[in-house]
Amino acid sequence: LALLLEGKPVARDIFSLLRDDIAQLVTRHGQLPHLAVVKVGDDPGSAAYARAIRRSAKSTGIPFQLVELDSSTGIEDFDREIGELNRNDAVAGIMVLQPLPRHLPRSRPSEIVDPDKDVDGMTLLNIGRLESGTACLVPSTPRGGIEILCHYDIPVAGRHAVIVGRSNVVGKPLASMLLSLDATVTICHSKTPDLSAFTRSGDIVALAAGKPSLLDASMLKRNAVVLDFGVNLLDGVMTGDADPTIADVAGAFTPVPGGTGVVTNAVLMRNTVTAIKNVLSRSRC
Ligand code: NAP
Repeated sequence: LALLLEGKPVARDIFSLLRDDIAQLVTRHGQLPHLAVVKVGDDPGSAAYARAIRRSAKSTGIPFQLVELDSSTGIEDFDREIGELNRNDAVAGIMVLQPLPRHLPRSRPSEIVDPDKDVDGMTLLNIGRLESGTACLVPSTPRGGIEILCHYDIPVAGRHAVIVGRSNVVGKPLASMLLSLDATVTICHSKTPDLSAFTRSGDIVALAAGKPSLLDASMLKRNAVVLDFGVNLLDGVMTGDADPTIADVAGAFTPVPGGTGVVTNAVLMRNTVTAIKNVLSRSRC
C-alpha cells in the first residue's frame, strides 16, 4: 500500500519551531517588524491566498499587513510602493501576490523587491543564490516539497528525480534544490515528447504543470515517490496533476488537497522569521 505523504504533520513541526522562535524574539525585542503582502487588483485567488497567509501569520505570532493597490496602479506607483516597503524598517518581509494586472510585468517584483525582505525567494539575487547553493530565502512551494521528503525520510541522493513543469516558482527552483541534495534531475515541460518515457525512469516524480490526470499509473515506475504540486479545480473539486490510479503503483505520494499546499505557508512563515531576524540584527542573508 502506498504511503500517504500528508503535509499537515510537516507543517505542524515547522510552525511549532517558529512559534518558539517568535516568542523568544518578542521577549528580546518587543514589537517585531511585519510581513507586508501586496495585492494589486481584485483577483479572487489572490484575495483567498492573502487571507490564508494572514491566518498563518496570526497563528505564528508574526505581525501582518495587507497592502491593497488598485488594479489601475501604474508601474511608477507600483515601484514607489515597493520602494517604500523596502526602505521601511518596520517591514521585515515583502510578498507580492500574482497574478498582477496585465499592464504590470509579472517579473517586476523579482527585479525591485529588496532581496533581504524577499520572503518568497523570487528576486533575481535570491534565484542566483539558490543556483549557487548559498540561498537562505527560497521559494516556499518547492521548499515545502523538500520538507516533505525530509520529514518522511525519503532518500534523495543518487536518485533520479523527474520534474514536470519549469516555472520560476515551482519547477526550476525545485530542480536546483533536488540537485543540491545530489539527485540526478530531469526537467520536462509541455514540449517534451513522450513524457512517460521520462516519468517511468523517475525514482521521484514531481508534478507542477496544473494539468489534471497528467500522470497515471502506466507512466510510473513501481514504488516511485510522487510529489504533486498541481492545484486544479474540476467541477468545484480540487485535484492535483496525478490520476488516482498512481496509488496502485507509487511507493508514496502527496495527496491533493492535504499535501504540498499545506506546507507552502509554513515555509513562507519560516522565511519571514528569517527576514525578521535579518532586520533586527541588520545582518544580510
Ligand atoms: P505554470 O507557470 O503554468 O507552469 C506550468 C508548467 O507545466 C510549464 O513549465 C509548462 O510547460 C508545464 N506543462 C503544462 N502542461 C504540460 C504537459 N501537458 N506536459 C508537460 N508539461 C506541461 O504553473 P506554476 O505556477 O508552476 O504552477 C504549477 C501548478 O502548481 C499549478 O497547478 C499551480 O496551481 C500549482 N501551485 C501549487 C502551489 C502549492 O502550494 N502547492 C503553489 C504554486 C503553484 P511550458 O513551460 O512548456 O509551458
